[in-house]
Amino acid sequence: MPEMTESSIPRRPTRKVRVGSVEIGGDAPVSVQSMTNTRAADVDATIAQIRRLENAGCDIVRVAVPNRAAAEAIREIKAAIGIPLVADIHFDYHLALASLECGADKLRINPGNIGSDENVRTVARAAKERGVSIRIGVNAGSIDRARYGMPSAETLVESALDEVRVLEKLGFEDIVLSLKAFDVPTMIRAYELAGERCDYPLHLGVTEAGLAWEGTIRSSIGIGALLARGIGDTIRVSLTGDPVEEVRVGREILNSLGLWRKPYTLISCPTCGRCEIDLAAIAEEVKRRLDETPPARPITIAVMGCIVNGPGEASLADVGLAGGAGVGVIFAGGNMLRKVGEKDLVDELMKEVRGLRDDSQGQNT
Ligand code: SF4
Repeated sequence: MPEMTESSIPRRPTRKVRVGSVEIGGDAPVSVQSMTNTRAADVDATIAQIRRLENAGCDIVRVAVPNRAAAEAIREIKAAIGIPLVADIHFDYHLALASLECGADKLRINPGNIGSDENVRTVARAAKERGVSIRIGVNAGSIDRARYGMPSAETLVESALDEVRVLEKLGFEDIVLSLKAFDVPTMIRAYELAGERCDYPLHLGVTEAGLAWEGTIRSSIGIGALLARGIGDTIRVSLTGDPVEEVRVGREILNSLGLWRKPYTLISCPTCGRCEIDLAAIAEEVKRRLDETPPARPITIAVMGCIVNGPGEASLADVGLAGGAGVGVIFAGGNMLRKVGEKDLVDELMKEVRGLRDDSQGQNT
């Protein structure tokens, strides 16, 4: 069977932290996170959105907790969802305590903005009693400029490590760190530096990355560059819009690096003057059908426009087609199977995909 490269990227060694049923760091797979954009106090809307996120492959979800009603909603939300929930807290440490009481699996705080050391101590003690981890989330936009100066990779790391020391002094070490910036080179450098200076797991993200198109590119470059070097243990793609898109992009980033395999990987050529079939329409239709009925095991499908690179690529995939003038050739398992008219190409390709699925089911029974 053709080979699909699995990731051979050595991961940076880190401690392992537990967030409900999910582990972050150590040998745990890189997890994908997102954040709801509903009001947590609107429990029905929040649960509905989290279920959509779960279906898209979200491992951990975060909700903003700006008031008591949001903290108290956590109990009901948690009872209705299957993934760990993180409470995002700013300014009021009472909300962190209330979130813990209501079952939050992790807190995202910035110890520097929840008041006195005593407040931080109180939150850390309560989290430790419940085995709840804390993410110290430092953002370039909210860095204390009076203390650290202008935001930079270095100041992000200094500020984050100062926060780490506050928790460490209290004996609290179930820590995840994030050092997000809008500027991608700054973000990359900050995580590199943090990775050199501590062994806490890192939550990667490009903050305020923008609308879906720009944000996907910015996030893929920032997060992807780090993951490709083994840095990063959990990721959140931040996009303006439906958070489900964040999860889809996050999963695709992991899939691209072989850190996870999605049910199918569709390879299609960009087409050029040699292409004599409507390849874009064929590729879209193949994708639509695969989304509708995903294969039971991860496979690679190649949809190629002509015989120049087509047969080569198609034969390296599990299943593929290479177009000609109004016809195409179907491949499976590295073998050329048959020539098919253009109008039947998708049906014939999908027959081979279904055949793979049937084989897989047969092996499992
Ligand atoms: Fe052009 Fe053929 Fe390459 Fe597609 S596979 S880009 S049609 S040469």
